[in-house]
Amino acid sequence: MSPATAQPATDRSPGLLPHERLQHLLDALSRSGYECIGPKLRDGAILYEHIDSVAELPLGVAVEQGPGSYRVDMTDSRRRFGWANGPQAIKPFLFAPREILWRATQREDGTLVFDARPPACKPLAVIGARACDLAALALQDKHFLGGTCPDPGYARRRDGLFIVAVHCSHPAQTCFCASTGDGPRATSGFDIALAELDDGFVAESGSDRGAAILDGLHLSSATTAQLVAAEEQGRHSSEVQRRALPGRNLQASLFANLEHPRWQEVAERCLSCGNCTSVCPTCFCHSEAEVPKLDGDSSLHEREWDSCFTQGHSYIHGFTVRPDTRTRYRQWLTHKLGGWHAQYGRSGCVGCGRCISWCPVGIDITEEAHAICGPQP
Ligand code: SF4
Ligand code: SF4
Repeated sequence: MSPATAQPATDRSPGLLPHERLQHLLDALSRSGYECIGPKLRDGAILYEHIDSVAELPLGVAVEQGPGSYRVDMTDSRRRFGWANGPQAIKPFLFAPREILWRATQREDGTLVFDARPPACKPLAVIGARACDLAALALQDKHFLGGTCPDPGYARRRDGLFIVAVHCSHPAQTCFCASTGDGPRATSGFDIALAELDDGFVAESGSDRGAAILDGLHLSSATTAQLVAAEEQGRHSSEVQRRALPGRNLQASLFANLEHPRWQEVAERCLSCGNCTSVCPTCFCHSEAEVPKLDGDSSLHEREWDSCFTQGHSYIHGFTVRPDTRTRYRQWLTHKLGGWHAQYGRSGCVGCGRCISWCPVGIDITEEAHAICGPQP
């Protein structure tokens, strides 16, 4: 940007955060009491972890994804967010993979005392969340916070969550968020949103606390050319996506096809490993168990992620209601793309494509939905 065109960003107009000042954003978040969580390259994948410095963010990393494949390449780009996603979204930070919910202790007189175990948590700022992750977060909010019994642990963590979204500029071959209406541009649910360009980030706020952080950075206004480039990048990210579900509401079609032969065909490939449900940012199924202490006087009540694909998940009163992979895969798809409409008013799929990349045999949810539902009106 030429100094002549640099104007202070005011009144929530987008500012320009140069690459070399990204650390200032992390520092401002830390000073405001947040622990920063950001993408890091580890074990050949992009994972969200604690970060102190922008030097820990992946620099020039590109990711190639396909059914059953995820490959990281290094480029000479200065960009730190030029990839679509890794196996993780925001889910594990709010809905812990395993946690103790309460402890039960037996008193000397034989009565039981239950102590809730609220998680110790520090407010988190997640840097780099994508539009699909935010759509998934909104769904998890409905599940864990809606209704008459909100989940106290989730609520506590959610309360302290600050989100710095980054609009997706390099969708993977497996992405189809444009078809579900959830991306690639983040439109709500963030405190700050960044569009990464070669000369920096077009930064806009989505909340008062986001605006306060950006105000403190005293950014110059983004130029018209930068705003147009960010817009164009978003359009391109949408247009290059090749996968799509056959429709946004497949409820009727899926339930009309419960005996379709494709369920058996996919079951012959599916390993029932549950990877798809672990990486899915919207899946919320879990199991709960009592873990007794050896002293016999107390026990811990533990909650752990579960999956449509485990035997225990459909075990009821002495038998397993979904005894084979055909019925378990069918449960996953009909709930995710069908039953969610009745429960949450929309499909449970936000088009992130993670279940396609991380399926060891490359089963593609969009292909299966097309095969079972056919073309939709
Ligand atoms: S079903 Fe697959 S593509 Fe859809 S949100 Fe879950 S992981 Fe992403
Ligand atoms: S669809 Fe793929 S990831 Fe999901 S359980 Fe089957 S083999 Fe595992």
